[in-house]
Amino acid sequence: MNVIESQPYKLLIGECWREGGEGRTFDTLNPATAQVLAQVHEATEEDVDAAVLAAHEAYQKHWSKTNPAQRGRLLRRLAELFERDREKIAWIETLNVGKPITHSLESLKAMPSSLAYFAGIIPAVRGETIPVASHDVLNYTLREPLGVCALIMPWNYPMTLTVNKLAPALAAGNTVILKPSEVTPLSTMALARLFEEAGFPPGVVNVVNGPGATVGERLVTHPLVSRVSFTGGTVTGARILASTASDVKRVTLELGGKSPLIVFDDAALDKAVAVAAGDLIKNSGQVCIACTRLLVQETVRDEFLGRLQTRLEAVRVGSPEDPATDMGPLVSATQKQRVEEYIRIAENEGARPVQYGAVEGAAAAGFFVRPTLLLDSAADMRSAQEEIFGPVQSVISFRDESQALHLANQSRYGLAAVLFTRDGGRALRMARGIQSGSVAINTGVRTSFDAPFGGYKQSGIGKERGLEAIYENTQLKNVKYDMSE
Ligand code: NDP
Repeated sequence: MNVIESQPYKLLIGECWREGGEGRTFDTLNPATAQVLAQVHEATEEDVDAAVLAAHEAYQKHWSKTNPAQRGRLLRRLAELFERDREKIAWIETLNVGKPITHSLESLKAMPSSLAYFAGIIPAVRGETIPVASHDVLNYTLREPLGVCALIMPWNYPMTLTVNKLAPALAAGNTVILKPSEVTPLSTMALARLFEEAGFPPGVVNVVNGPGATVGERLVTHPLVSRVSFTGGTVTGARILASTASDVKRVTLELGGKSPLIVFDDAALDKAVAVAAGDLIKNSGQVCIACTRLLVQETVRDEFLGRLQTRLEAVRVGSPEDPATDMGPLVSATQKQRVEEYIRIAENEGARPVQYGAVEGAAAAGFFVRPTLLLDSAADMRSAQEEIFGPVQSVISFRDESQALHLANQSRYGLAAVLFTRDGGRALRMARGIQSGSVAINTGVRTSFDAPFGGYKQSGIGKERGLEAIYENTQLKNVKYDMSE
């Protein structure tokens, strides 16, 4: 399927597809081959300003005056178009991100439902009347949109993260500017083609491409941008928080993680092994909620590790275009170097890195790293504390429940946690004690568009998805009227 455009991809600003103001383009690669896949126009600061103005004008003139039913109709139409083009968009993600095609197709399955979900719930989001003390006073609330929202995405799940930010923002009545990662902009460009066809007025959705340090920074600091929703690394998130502080903008941050998978000795071991192996290989471990610290009760450690190693030996690492591939490459040369450097750090710290599977055939030219366990890790090692964002897991033993809880919380992050035990009381005690935004018991963490998602501690601020995403995208006004006049 020929899914990549041969001409450089343009910016979407208002009703125009335009080149960047200075005519500069940048390359985007296929990480499985390290070859150039396409060129993309780079926005200037003036282009960013133009996109914000287009979004502001669209908000003032049209979008803020639409009702939920009108916005819902357009989102449902977008969902239909997405379903029509889902396979094409999945192939783009496979070529640009390096995800195995089976995974790309699977991860995009829920996108039309996500768009339809937000189209469906928005009419039910209402203000309320409040019975205040004075009989003559009518007191009520209005839930209002915020205006122009900047949505900034990382490279690991470009489409899923875009749709899950975009759908509630538009449903709630905001206009948006999308800033995909410079590394993986192509699926967002395919989505951008659908807005006009779906019937969205020009300027409601705009797309600018280019480096975070210039394009992203200009976008988040623009005075007409009221809200920033950012997914990415914790360092970048903290920077955005600082850059937006003087304007007191609304900011939602979905940041990094170092999530624990805790295996007690009464666990369903095969299920726990499947979740651990899945987290290691899915999207080559480049998943914010991936469990990268395996905490295993010492009485079951050897049995668990034996089964996990057998499973990992069978992993097929290779071309993401091959439906038989389990794991593709990392997204970039930079990411590959980073992961390999962490494996060296772990070894110097006294852990024992072991790699599994084999990279098959010609695929070896790309940015591949085999699935790696860091055996004999200690919880305070850098490799067990810092986010590696690759197919690497630290293996750490624990004695009892209280040590398991202590180790689980021994992290600056708090995005997700998984635990396997058949003891219900222990499961509930652990779920209450773990400091993270999501906890999964006897199953893996799988985010869904209809359940709130967000981090504790340095994993973020605010929630996306579910009804909470609508609250993040709106502000509440209190009105009081003295009826005695
Ligand atoms: P980065 O933080 O480097 O970048 C994320 C996005 O922010 C990119 O579009 C980037 O642009 C942009 N950006 C960079 N600097 C600025 C700035 N000063 N102002 C505005 N925008 C800026 O993350 P990665 O792309 O490397 O993604 C990996 C990270 O994302 C991991 O740490 C991972 O944990 C996290 N993540 C978190 C998730 C969650 O839901 N909690 C989900 C998925 C990933 P560009 O790259 O084009 O320069």
